[in-house]
Amino acid sequence: MQESFIHYLWQFQYFDKKDLKTTNGESLSVFQTGSLNTDAGPDFSSAKVKIDSMDWMGSVEMHTKSSGWYDHGHDSDPAYEKVVLHVVWVHDKPVTRNDGTELPTLELQHRVDPGLIENYKRLVENSSVIPCEKLFPEVSEITKLSMLDRSLMQRLETKAAQVSQLLESTQNDWEEVTYQLMARNFGFKINYDPFFQLANAIPRKILLKHADSLRDIEALLFGQGGFLDYGIKDEYFKDLQQEYKALASKYGLENQKLRKEDWKFLRLRPANFPTIRIAQFSALFFRNRSLFAKLMEATQIKDITKLFDVNTSEYWHTHYRFGRKTARSISGMGEESVHNIIINTIAPLLVAYGKAQDDQNLIDRAVDFLQKTPAEKNKITKTWASMNLQPRQAFDSQALIELNNNFCLKRRCLDCNIGIDILKPAKT
Ligand code: SF4
Repeated sequence: MQESFIHYLWQFQYFDKKDLKTTNGESLSVFQTGSLNTDAGPDFSSAKVKIDSMDWMGSVEMHTKSSGWYDHGHDSDPAYEKVVLHVVWVHDKPVTRNDGTELPTLELQHRVDPGLIENYKRLVENSSVIPCEKLFPEVSEITKLSMLDRSLMQRLETKAAQVSQLLESTQNDWEEVTYQLMARNFGFKINYDPFFQLANAIPRKILLKHADSLRDIEALLFGQGGFLDYGIKDEYFKDLQQEYKALASKYGLENQKLRKEDWKFLRLRPANFPTIRIAQFSALFFRNRSLFAKLMEATQIKDITKLFDVNTSEYWHTHYRFGRKTARSISGMGEESVHNIIINTIAPLLVAYGKAQDDQNLIDRAVDFLQKTPAEKNKITKTWASMNLQPRQAFDSQALIELNNNFCLKRRCLDCNIGIDILKPAKT
């Protein structure tokens, strides 16, 4: 029996409370279960119980076996001195406090409905990706929606925390953070790392000095990305190569340069080649040197779309790579790419900035953007769709990804509103 199941039983008081007694026969009443503690220390704090005729307020600790108290070293840890009740599945050893008295213990193994235990095991020992798959149709819509809300907020919080971490490393420079995050997003899945390395290898403040020249921005980004190290016989390439040489020596950039081999082209559609993405990223910077400020001003999706409607330099209208001309005219960033950026960069940025400024409107705006952006289509969302939970917008798809990765895969069904609903004794 896992400890998390004992937490769950205690939290919801899903055990037979008739003639409730501790293991040494004292009567026991529970007035307050206390709050689950996810940090170090006893499992529940501020619980209120009555043992015989005495009221106790303090912590409750849980173990599968009562000997766990000693195995986990609680007997010598002052944080456990305030424990008023030990709740265990099996009582295999009495626990004595420092003052020589026995710690009151409640044993649960004979007080829990066998149907509940069976359902719990069926859920957490199930090997399918979504263990509750078969029971899912029985769950109410309101429970599903509340779990989606919770998962979405958790996902945004995690992403916002990553933004804040980056912020620390840039001495609170929101424009630099936006530049780095945006670069990483422009790499999408495949070139995510090299694009992020590129943004680190060519700080925004250097690009800013050349913000009036798209040619200089391109020379710096392509050069620093290692794309200008080869001998290609076209004028545009040679021009960028020459310009980069001068700028790299001016700013001492050469030793942080990436190699062309760091970038991946394989299995990518030409429109996603890193060369095209660098050209688009250059154009974005050229048009929006203070991108963070502009993003924070954008209150509608259409304002965002406008910011990304940028024109690359002419060369990239007819080239997917240096030196290889295509007859096709290459269009700008697709809608899908902009949606991906809203989901992965803009929404987390809004939440992180909203938290830093204590401005709920910005957090609400992030949620609003996700509610107005189409849902992502991937393996995870397809699995949920097959369970009749078709994500309508990015709000849903992001929530489902979080639910899948951080609850279902980790078998945290007892910490999930859906799992709690499924296991409710009325359903067992
Ligand atoms: S975590 Fe929740 S949604 Fe996922 S399998 Fe468990 S009960 Fe179902």
